[in-house]
Amino acid sequence: MKILVIGKGGREHALAYACHKSKLCDELYMAPGNPGMAKIGTCVDVSDSDIEGLVSFAKEKQIDLSIVGPEATLSLGVVDAFQKAGLKIFGPTKAAAQVESSKDFAKNIMAKYGIPTAAYQTFDDLEKATAYVKEKGAPIVIKEDGLKAGKGVTVAQELSEALEALEAAFCQEGNKVVIEECLVGFEFSLICLVHNEQVIPLEIAQDHKPVFDGDKGPNTGGMGSYSPVKKITPEIVENAMETIMKPMAKAMVQEGVSFTGFLYGGLMLTQDGVKVIEFNARFGDPEAEVVLPRLESDFVQAILDVMENKPVHLTWSSKVSHGVVLASTNYPASSTKGAVIQNTDNLDALVFHMGTKMEKDQLVTDGGRVLMVVTLEDTLEEAYAHTYKEVEKIECTDLFYRHDIGKKDMDHE
Ligand code: AMP
Repeated sequence: MKILVIGKGGREHALAYACHKSKLCDELYMAPGNPGMAKIGTCVDVSDSDIEGLVSFAKEKQIDLSIVGPEATLSLGVVDAFQKAGLKIFGPTKAAAQVESSKDFAKNIMAKYGIPTAAYQTFDDLEKATAYVKEKGAPIVIKEDGLKAGKGVTVAQELSEALEALEAAFCQEGNKVVIEECLVGFEFSLICLVHNEQVIPLEIAQDHKPVFDGDKGPNTGGMGSYSPVKKITPEIVENAMETIMKPMAKAMVQEGVSFTGFLYGGLMLTQDGVKVIEFNARFGDPEAEVVLPRLESDFVQAILDVMENKPVHLTWSSKVSHGVVLASTNYPASSTKGAVIQNTDNLDALVFHMGTKMEKDQLVTDGGRVLMVVTLEDTLEEAYAHTYKEVEKIECTDLFYRHDIGKKDMDHE
């Protein structure tokens, strides 16, 4: 088969890696890909926001299956365009991708179908929002509506912080804000392969969103992850499947916006059971980089089977995968580019490229999150030690990383 992975980040590198391992994959293309992906397939000079360009390339090359990574590409309607051109693609339509791009859309479906989530209200007016926040008090969560790459959310512990976040959110004209009850518990991600009402869970991964050690600092796209997560037992997953993931897929079919692709449940295990923090319409990043290396069965076969409503049997390595993100110095406030990176090729680890490019034959940084180093070992402790040993070998003057990815879970035991 000829397979096209759309995107250029670490998640897409992990998707390409899983396709590359598949027996069904004869030719692998990535648009636009990155220097890491170039080692396992052919990078094509078409941007992941150039929908027409992607369709033309897929037609011309007679691509058999395309897989979409980024939420922004989905929101531009890439799936609708491919389907119209008669091309097979794994991802949600623009309408179904609203489950992520509009918090309001997702919250309305959850309310209508009784899917457990934090109580919320949407506002388009600062005065009313302020009155509501003052009435509810802190802790409280303020979310800007729309795609913010995990960054438009303030979990305010103090009332003053909540009010500041509201002011900032309403600075931009036309903004809507979702104000939400603060859920307390253990957060985890459950990502499923979905086609209409067929919902197949992948293994659980634990993301680390705050930028600094000890979960300090602002939220990022994710600074590291590991899989599996001991605390999330098969019973909890089963419960989340029955009360959240399957009902959501079914609700979307009933609403006429049936979902195909990776449906990502950002969930919280609270004292009252599992509740939804958010849904995403694509694989998580940095979850893909630790989940997909543990998949032993054929990834492409699984996607084809789910799309044809055939039974899907996934087998997983019992090893623990652990990954650490290396980010540009000022991330997430800003990101620098162009710093030379050395020694990524000689590591005893998987190195996923998140934001890199080649400049005069040298690998350089090109964005906020730059690389993710992943190792697989028998235990989380061993994988933790191994990943950090490899991370230290990377040479670059403009990268930093968290030193405690997975530590909290080890301390629990
Ligand atoms: P989101 O972009 O909705 O995933 O939010 C980013 C992060 O903010 C989540 O991963 C949680 O850590 C936190 N968060 C969002 N909503 C809530 C909530 N209702 N209660 C507690 N924490 C939340």
